[in-house]
Amino acid sequence: MRNVYTVDRSELMAFTSLASQSAKRCMEVCGLLVAEHSRLQLIPVHNASQEILSFAVWKQWVQIALRAANCPASRVVGTYHSHPISGAVPGESDIAGIKNGSLMLIAATLPMEYKLWRINDLTAIPMQLIVSQG
Ligand SMILES: [Zn+2]
Repeated sequence: MRNVYTVDRSELMAFTSLASQSAKRCMEVCGLLVAEHSRLQLIPVHNASQEILSFAVWKQWVQIALRAANCPASRVVGTYHSHPISGAVPGESDIAGIKNGSLMLIAATLPMEYKLWRINDLTAIPMQLIVSQG
């Protein structure tokens, strides 16, 4: 399995700026990671959680988001979400129930940082994320 991925700067910035705005209300934002070879694309999904400091990716919102992005579900390789007050490290609840091999991108807002992980056997393994101009 590869451990180096690239993402377009514009897509990453769209995520992190939305994460910063939502962090003011302690709300998280979330979405899907879609891969084409090593290139990751971020597809925003409505956060189904009404609670602060949490996110929930519901099937119905995933279907709507994938349809809007004209993207087949088979290309989904993981999820992303933001952490308004903690670091860019997956918490226990983030990892619980995650399919082995899934990618997870987390953006923390205080301070702003982002990290890509692969979840294997309830363990988060750091991946390299290269930000390209685009
Ligand atoms: Zn989290």
